[in-house]
Amino acid sequence: MEEKDFIVVGGGVSGLLSALALGKEGRDVLLLEKEDYLGGVCRSYKVDGYQVDTGPHMITRVAQGPLKYLIDNYFDIIPNFMPHGRYYVVLNNRVKPFPWNMRDWVSFDLLPQTDRIYLMKTLFSISYLFNKGEDLSKKSVADFIGNGLSEPTIRFLNCMSYFMTGSPMDKTPVERFVDAEHYKSQSRGMLDKIYNILMKEGAQDQVYPKGGIQSIITSIKASIPEKKVEIRTGEKVVGINHAEKTIESSSGEYRYNTLIYSGFASDLPKLTENKLPKNYMESLSRLYKINALTIWLGLDEKIFNRDGSEIWVDSNSYTWAVPVSNYDPNLSPRGKQLVGFAFSLPQGFNEKKEKKRSLETIYEMNPRIERNVDMIHHQMLIPEKAVWTIDTLFANVKTPIDSIYLVGTDTERRSMGITRASYSVNTLLSTLKKDERL
Ligand SMILES: Cc1cc2nc3c(=O)[nH]c(=O)nc-3n(C[C@H](O)[C@H](O)[C@H](O)COP(=O)(O)OP(=O)(O)OC[C@H]3O[C@@H](n4cnc5c(N)ncnc54)[C@H](O)[C@@H]3O)c2cc1C
Repeated sequence: MEEKDFIVVGGGVSGLLSALALGKEGRDVLLLEKEDYLGGVCRSYKVDGYQVDTGPHMITRVAQGPLKYLIDNYFDIIPNFMPHGRYYVVLNNRVKPFPWNMRDWVSFDLLPQTDRIYLMKTLFSISYLFNKGEDLSKKSVADFIGNGLSEPTIRFLNCMSYFMTGSPMDKTPVERFVDAEHYKSQSRGMLDKIYNILMKEGAQDQVYPKGGIQSIITSIKASIPEKKVEIRTGEKVVGINHAEKTIESSSGEYRYNTLIYSGFASDLPKLTENKLPKNYMESLSRLYKINALTIWLGLDEKIFNRDGSEIWVDSNSYTWAVPVSNYDPNLSPRGKQLVGFAFSLPQGFNEKKEKKRSLETIYEMNPRIERNVDMIHHQMLIPEKAVWTIDTLFANVKTPIDSIYLVGTDTERRSMGITRASYSVNTLLSTLKKDERL
């Protein structure tokens, strides 16, 4: 039986970043990925001459966040990041940039003035509770919204909640929007400070990687020390025996010192034949996932000309439209435009129906799109392995089994997507150091 110091299960961005860091720290690592490709939901591939990503992606906090730490410490090749530009809100057939600061909020006349004043007052209440140290993870956005707001304002708040957590505002904890670090670091006036506590991700630097989201995976792979890290694709881990410290895969058996598991944490009981503490398995079973639908459209002419992406509050379902070929023209054939449209899906959705309805929504919002369609590609994916709603749990990096650690977006509640995955890898590294495994 082959023996390895570290075995990493899963070759998405979390597993690959973990393998890279461990390899650069001088450890011997074997990474096993069940698919024939690496990247998980952080990947790009070709469709009819276009290069699509697994869902539209913008990466937050690259200038000073957790990914920056990993890049600075472990990357030899750094992706080329392009600034995202602005988020445009489409509401009541009008378009305005998203109001990231107090001044823009005051003039954000897509919503009635009375509603904006009401929401300002609400911000004061939230800020007061936040400063008092109240647990805002148990209070939903809807808990703070009284009756009497106009329908567009309710739609706007619901839309923002969906994009931040994948759930409507009555399921979205207000804490999801509160950024303590950002709040502390702002030196502007008090009103701006208060406003900023609810402007978590967007107020941070956001970028798109030139060459598509795959370029992050390409950079990680190119930085991995080959003598230290072995990667095997097409090899699924089917069983973990933690008493013996062995795993069984579709191609063999291995012994490990330390196992890093980056698949769905909720799959762990099955993989260990339920030989984990009962209360731990019960908590893993409460991890929550959402599905997201993306429709990629190749267009014969450039229809999206703004410097950023668009949030369509008017559409049913809410839509995020990202013209990725504006950041990198090589993603589409010459003279064409590639746009990703991401939709959050209702509970108990019917896949076929949602695909049809979502495409019709795009065409209704802008009939010029339908007349110019050159390529259509659908993706049904899970953007986050644990979505932050009221009462949602996240698994910890540390498990009750001392040789098994978890990594990935279901182990960490800070931020979202690739930034959240990076936080998780940083927590993993510091935990391994504390446990003297690194
Ligand atoms: C539509 C959409 C939009 C998104 N938008 C953004 C965005 O704008 N910004 C952002 O930062 N992020 C975004 N994301 C999220 C981001 O892509 C993910 O959070 C991140 O890629 C998750 O990485 P991960 O490694 O934790 O998980 P995954 O990518 O799920 O990786 C897990 C890997 O483990 C493998 N695996 C599982 N079980 C086994 C097993 N038993 N044996 C071997 N291998 C196994 C899987 O095949 C997979 O490759 C988006 C995602 C989607 C789908």
